[in-house]
Amino acid sequence: MKQLRLLLTISLISSMYGCASKLQVLPQSVSDCDKTSITFDYKTQPNDEWVEHLNKSISAANQILSDNDFALACSNTWMTNKRGNSASKVCEQLVCGGNTVVQVGFYDDPNSAGIATTGMNDRVMRFNTAKMNQGSGTPGNIIHEYTHVLGYKHLTNFRFIAQTSVPYKVGYLADKYADTDQ
Ligand SMILES: [Zn+2]
Repeated sequence: MKQLRLLLTISLISSMYGCASKLQVLPQSVSDCDKTSITFDYKTQPNDEWVEHLNKSISAANQILSDNDFALACSNTWMTNKRGNSASKVCEQLVCGGNTVVQVGFYDDPNSAGIATTGMNDRVMRFNTAKMNQGSGTPGNIIHEYTHVLGYKHLTNFRFIAQTSVPYKVGYLADKYADTDQ
């Protein structure tokens, strides 16, 4: 039984490498497209600290979204909750959106584990002002929320379960790029 399990593990790993050898290159329609550039339209004006925090993060987020290395890494990322699209299509929607205005609001909830939320009906991105030090309004958080603006969801907020979904996978990837840029 143990040997069988070992064999299964080996064939699983080799099939994973099989996938890895088929890594896609970025199509020209994505590398040369009108890159997403997000601007925020504040429904309520935040304080100076938040304005400064978000200005920095939006400019970093836009840099990441216009980076072809990010688009390529995104296209080659395995993720769930893709609304029937391929990863390449999801990433194309993400990086080829052109100038995009996002409505932004705020809430203050120190007791919530959530750092931000985006209304699936009104598509308003709302940041939890109590959670600036826990990652609210970072480039990765903005890009996670932006996938919600595009209609992508995770069915639960428990990270352990949700982390393979488009919003989390793309947000984590953006975090990696934000770290290397600094
Ligand atoms: Zn989310």
